[in-house]
Amino acid sequence: MTASTKPTAPSATDVVLEAVGLTKHFPIRRRLRTLFAPRRAVHAVEHVDFVLREGRVTAMVGESGSGKSTVARLMAQLIHQTDGQVLLHGEPVRARGRRFRAYCRRVQMVFQDPFASLNPVHTVRYHLTRALRIHGSDTTAEELLTRVALTPPERFLAKFPHELSGGQRQRVAIARALAAGPEALLADEPVSMLDVSIRLGVLNLLRDLRDRLNLAILYITHDIASARYFADEVLVMYAGQVVEGGSGEAVTQHAAHPYTRLLIASAPDPDRIAGAETEVADVGGGEPPSLIEPPTGCRFHPRCPHAMARCRVEAPPRLAVESNGDGPHWAACWLYDKNTVEGT
Ligand code: SF4
Repeated sequence: MTASTKPTAPSATDVVLEAVGLTKHFPIRRRLRTLFAPRRAVHAVEHVDFVLREGRVTAMVGESGSGKSTVARLMAQLIHQTDGQVLLHGEPVRARGRRFRAYCRRVQMVFQDPFASLNPVHTVRYHLTRALRIHGSDTTAEELLTRVALTPPERFLAKFPHELSGGQRQRVAIARALAAGPEALLADEPVSMLDVSIRLGVLNLLRDLRDRLNLAILYITHDIASARYFADEVLVMYAGQVVEGGSGEAVTQHAAHPYTRLLIASAPDPDRIAGAETEVADVGGGEPPSLIEPPTGCRFHPRCPHAMARCRVEAPPRLAVESNGDGPHWAACWLYDKNTVEGT
């Protein structure tokens, strides 16, 4: 695998979708005996900021429970945020009405399990023509299938989901998302349930759609190796917060945050960065923290081999990481604060 290359540099004007201080808390239902106790919540996503640009893929990487799928659902407005905003071309998204329906057309989601997202009793033709009718599109089902490389389309139109392979089902799910004529695709682990042999084909399809349709794509994954291959920008999530971000090359080749280094070292990547194994041994694996009572300061401090006294009390802001010529790069880690003296 080689890293994704996209020649044009992004500009501020090509932002399609933006998350500003996006926060989601899920309240925990109280039992009778704790009815008068303070209400507790799972702090699933906190103060997440990022942009999706047209013709670019942004990967959001993290382990299970890090909050990345919740971010995708918030961006799709399948659930509503506790705080913060989602902006489409700078305009806040409305929760209902005509503007909300327009938002749903322009921002489409591709789910992890294509079998669950397609109705087993309906044919491919039904799924696609229904989506086209709902969105008032004059595209045909045949054109959609051709766009996702299911050709000749006549071979697939009359098939039911169970008659397709996993990769073909995911292509149909992507074709259905394209029926709306979206500007942004939110792909939540789109290849993790597919055989390894067909994952690359689906990622290549998404990359091709990025280029041909100028789509802004959010690619949610736990696999940092695929993010390196596929994404223009990479964001790393840990315990509900984004802890590192930058160009795909910068984050995957010169990871700065101790958690990102742990992720890379854990990935079965033959090109593994030298020395990363030592980092895993240092961190000793460890468990992600409780999101009901997340750690104070830096949420990674209970697992971090570099934790300092201030890490336990002060949450680090985004700090610039010295560039290796790979583009902008930042990490939410006190190690990159110029005033930090290790061990303090
Ligand atoms: Fe480790 Fe401190 Fe950086 Fe958090 S802020 S990752 S605890 S060094």
